[in-house]
Amino acid sequence: MGKNIDFDVVVVGAGNAALCAALSASEAGATVIVLEKSPKHSQGGNCPYTGAGFRFTHSGIKDLKSLLPENTATGEFQMAPYTDQDFRDHFMEATHGDTDKELVEVVISKSRETINWMHSNGVRWELPVNINLENVPSIIPNQVGLSAYESGPGLVKMLTKAVESKSISILYETKMVSIHKGGRGQIESIQVQDRDGINNIRCKAVVLACGGFEANPEMRIKYLGTKWETAKVRGSKYNTGDGHRVALNIGAATYGQWTGCHGTPIDLNAPRTGDLALTDAMPRRSYNLGIMVNLDGNRFTDEGVGFAEQTFVQIGSEILSQKRNMAFQIFDQRAVKHLEDRYGGSRCKNAKSIWELASLVGINPAVLKATVDKFNEEAEDADYHPGTLDGRSTLSVYPAKSNWAIKIDKPPFIAYPVTGSITYTYGGLKIDKNARVLDLEDNAIPGLYAAGEIVGGIFYHNSLRAAGLMHGSVFGKLAGQHAGRL
Ligand SMILES: Cc1cc2nc3c(=O)[nH]c(=O)nc-3n(C[C@H](O)[C@H](O)[C@H](O)COP(=O)(O)OP(=O)(O)OC[C@H]3O[C@@H](n4cnc5c(N)ncnc54)[C@H](O)[C@@H]3O)c2cc1C
Repeated sequence: MGKNIDFDVVVVGAGNAALCAALSASEAGATVIVLEKSPKHSQGGNCPYTGAGFRFTHSGIKDLKSLLPENTATGEFQMAPYTDQDFRDHFMEATHGDTDKELVEVVISKSRETINWMHSNGVRWELPVNINLENVPSIIPNQVGLSAYESGPGLVKMLTKAVESKSISILYETKMVSIHKGGRGQIESIQVQDRDGINNIRCKAVVLACGGFEANPEMRIKYLGTKWETAKVRGSKYNTGDGHRVALNIGAATYGQWTGCHGTPIDLNAPRTGDLALTDAMPRRSYNLGIMVNLDGNRFTDEGVGFAEQTFVQIGSEILSQKRNMAFQIFDQRAVKHLEDRYGGSRCKNAKSIWELASLVGINPAVLKATVDKFNEEAEDADYHPGTLDGRSTLSVYPAKSNWAIKIDKPPFIAYPVTGSITYTYGGLKIDKNARVLDLEDNAIPGLYAAGEIVGGIFYHNSLRAAGLMHGSVFGKLAGQHAGRL
């Protein structure tokens, strides 16, 4: 890179939110450059790891047809209309009412127009048929929008093509190091590092769209707690909280739940950071159809407190609290036929008795047998119906199991070793309705914008499936529009 170059808008990151920001800044007439820390083949942070599901408002399958290729056979495929109120209710339900209502209203009201705008910029959409979310029991409907063609990798490819068609350059292996303000407090330049060293880009605005801090163990320990040190990272190793740190250094306010993150129980042998070929096969979310024990052979949580779709984030975190951050999911033959297909790829132990199973996995057999016997005394002799909260419970056993408390007594018994993983973090920067980053006094920092995972205040306690990419696109587009007008 040449020394001291000038652009109106510098976008940090080359994932979904960033590329939307770059496109809209260019539409607003600005000169734009995109910085991407990773090599081209790893571009897009967490985006390529997703199924690229987008949740947005629409009036049913007929309405969605206008976004689908002409030859799409919608046939039997059903999708109910998704209203503003549905979207609002689901955000509130998932976050226990803590989400920032003002920001969420922006996401809801602009969701459909943003999808249309992405479509007009070359993003192709398809029915979410590949993921088959319809079969995932949930109190919040999952199958409510569309997916980008060829999922996450396809989304990155289509947005990159769109950006390049506007003659916007993406500088790969080029990392934002710091941002500098001028005398009036406005953004004036950004310092970047590439293979040749450190350079400055003079600019009027910076859009931070460089993801969360999930892949930074030091920040995980600091904000999420020590048990997150060893959590497996489901997505990109490049999302290390650079944007959070750089923005805080120039006075940005923190916002949202910095102690919160999305995660899931995951195979103990999953890779340390995301591997595109494996990521989707690693979650282990059928724990509600059995019991979980720690290395001491004791149960530690209510495995049946709700559908896994609503509990897996919390359960993953509880597994990380156990000795060596791990646990075993134990099932019998009543449960095996109902396990998610993903279990097929696991290394597991199989035995004719609980005693033998305990010896195989290194748990004291007497303790595990006592745990299972005690559970079975209260549990029912019944079949599993995973799609229904069946109310079969063992309320006098500690910890209680609130649903699917069915005896574990049909050998062979199986133990799957699991740990906790992190998908992305919830805490981030405070923005206003135009994606301007606010300082501690709630004043906009002139020229600083943020979008995507780096934004705080959207998710608390849990996230809403397929709303992460959606809010990234909405605020990415707004950030670009406003930054571009500067
Ligand atoms: C396994 C998995 C499945 C998911 N499924 C879905 C789903 O179906 N739907 C949904 O809505 N959400 C899903 N999510 C969440 C979704 O991935 C994120 O919400 C979304 O990708 C965040 O987008 P972003 O643009 O903010 O950041 P990212 O897409 O993560 O991009 C951040 C970019 O910034 C770059 N970067 C970081 N630091 C720097 C720096 N200093 N300088 C330059 N560049 C930098 C990174 O390399 C990366 O390219 C999933 C996440 C995972 C991990």
